Amino acid sequence: MNDPCAQCGRRFNRAPGYLLGSIYVNYGVTAVLVVVIYFGCYFTETLTSKQLLAVLTGLIVVFPLWFFRYARSIWIAFDELFDPWPNEQESRELEKSG
Ligand SMILES: [Zn+2]
Repeated sequence: MNDPCAQCGRRFNRAPGYLLGSIYVNYGVTAVLVVVIYFGCYFTETLTSKQLLAVLTGLIVVFPLWFFRYARSIWIAFDELFDPWPNEQESRELEKSG
C-alpha cells in the first residue's frame, strides 16, 4: 500500500494503530455474509449440515484474506467522511515539515 497517496499526498496510515479499525469492517462483513449464507442454505436445504459447515469454514478463512484491502478502503472512506485529511493537527505538522 502506498503511503502517502501518490496523487494527493494523503497519509493512509494516519497514526499508529489507525488501520486496526479495518479489522472490524472485515470481521463485520464476513460475519454478515456467513449468517446470510447459513440461513439461506439452512432454509432452502441446498446443502447438508456437514457440507454447509465445510463451505462456511472455507469461507471464513479465505474471504477475510481476499477482502482485507477492501476493508481498509472502506475504513479509510468512513474516516475521511467523519475526519477529512488533513485535520488541524496534521495541517500543523505538514507546515512544520515544509
Ligand atoms: Zn489520493
